[in-house]
Amino acid sequence: MNEMVSKIIDIVRKHDEWRHSTINLIASENIMSPLAESLYLNDMMHRYAEGKPYKRYYQGTKYIDEIEVLATELMKKLFNVDYAEVRPISGTTANGTVFYALGGCGKKALIPPVQAGSHVSHTKFGILGALGIEQIEMPYDKENLNIDIDKAIKMIEEVKPAFVVLGGSMYPFPHPVKEIAEAVHAIGSKVVYDAAHVLGLIAGKALSNPLDEGADVMTASTHKTFPGPQGGVILTNEKEIYKKVSRIVFPVFVSNHHAHRLPSLAVTALEMIEFGEEYARQVVRNAKALAEELNALGIKVLGEHLGFTRTHQVIIDVSDRGGAAELVKKLEDAYIITNKNLLPWDPPDAIANPSGIRLGVQEMTRFGMKEDDMKEIAKFIKRVLDGEEPEKVKKDVVAFRKQFQEVQYGYKMNEEALTRFKEYITLSMGIDLVK
Ligand SMILES: *Cc1c(COP(=O)(O)O)cnc(C)c1O
Repeated sequence: MNEMVSKIIDIVRKHDEWRHSTINLIASENIMSPLAESLYLNDMMHRYAEGKPYKRYYQGTKYIDEIEVLATELMKKLFNVDYAEVRPISGTTANGTVFYALGGCGKKALIPPVQAGSHVSHTKFGILGALGIEQIEMPYDKENLNIDIDKAIKMIEEVKPAFVVLGGSMYPFPHPVKEIAEAVHAIGSKVVYDAAHVLGLIAGKALSNPLDEGADVMTASTHKTFPGPQGGVILTNEKEIYKKVSRIVFPVFVSNHHAHRLPSLAVTALEMIEFGEEYARQVVRNAKALAEELNALGIKVLGEHLGFTRTHQVIIDVSDRGGAAELVKKLEDAYIITNKNLLPWDPPDAIANPSGIRLGVQEMTRFGMKEDDMKEIAKFIKRVLDGEEPEKVKKDVVAFRKQFQEVQYGYKMNEEALTRFKEYITLSMGIDLVK
């Protein structure tokens, strides 16, 4: 028994140490600030709070009510919107809620092609399909790595979908919200903008707010470029949509809504109000610097004629190097964590060995890296791609990564938080750390 406990603890310790010694370029991940992270460990993780704040089905929720209202208000303030729904426990749950509210069985939805970056939740294989909504692919312009606006507008007029989904998982160039929204509104339908990847860039105003450009509702994860706890959020200025969504998220998609993440969400929203613009600006600068250096080193980067990227993402094409499958493993062996990705011109069945690798710089930016550090990362990647022993590159990666250990653009754990943290452990485990 004790051996098993040691093993479990050891697995967690190894994971934590390993991932803090790697250059993490997974575009959908991030880390919380020390304060947000410390507040994640709290007793709300054991509780239920079904319903809305102050109108719950159970007793015992008065502080959950307080924090949920606070987190909601801070998210509204940060995004300058009238309504925020923070109960979805993930971006997928947020999408399911909104798709159900706007569509439902037998309705049609237009989405960008999967190879061009749509998330699985937008497809027949994900929650959209599970809800019985028909997935129809929007025309895409492979040259400009974006939706083909003219053809898309024609399709919107012909198909008359209940809603159109914009935003995606591979997303170096923002979709044309304004143009699509005009056509969608003309047929009386709605635009859903899935900001899972770019919520932090929108918060920091590196990208314009899609709700100001005509999107009717925005869904997102709260843990990608938005550096909060894993969770979801729905934002809108339309009361009718908010009312529907709030009646659907519970009881359809969540029962408990993981309330213990809400203090961390509230702290992250505060941090983004204070440091968000600086952070988002640096993320985009870093992405550009990484792309430019990779390109200069002879690695094919998508969208050269478009300036490579306008977000946190850099997409490289390794089809001339045998595809991504082997290379991402070698990069991992060199402690550079990435993922293989379909490119817009890949056939869907290329998923096992697609042409692309997706890189995101948001987490390394949070650890304080700047443009010059991106050049170093590009050189590490180049060495691995050129066939150098990953083990050799790893040594240099680990030494380089050691310089960047403190999270920027967020609050440190102050005395008060540290005391609270110790009190929690004392309370819940009977170990007196306070003394
Ligand atoms: C990651 C992602 C999601 C799903 O988010 P989860 O929080 O992982 O459920 C939804 N949409 C897009 C575009 C994504 O990239």
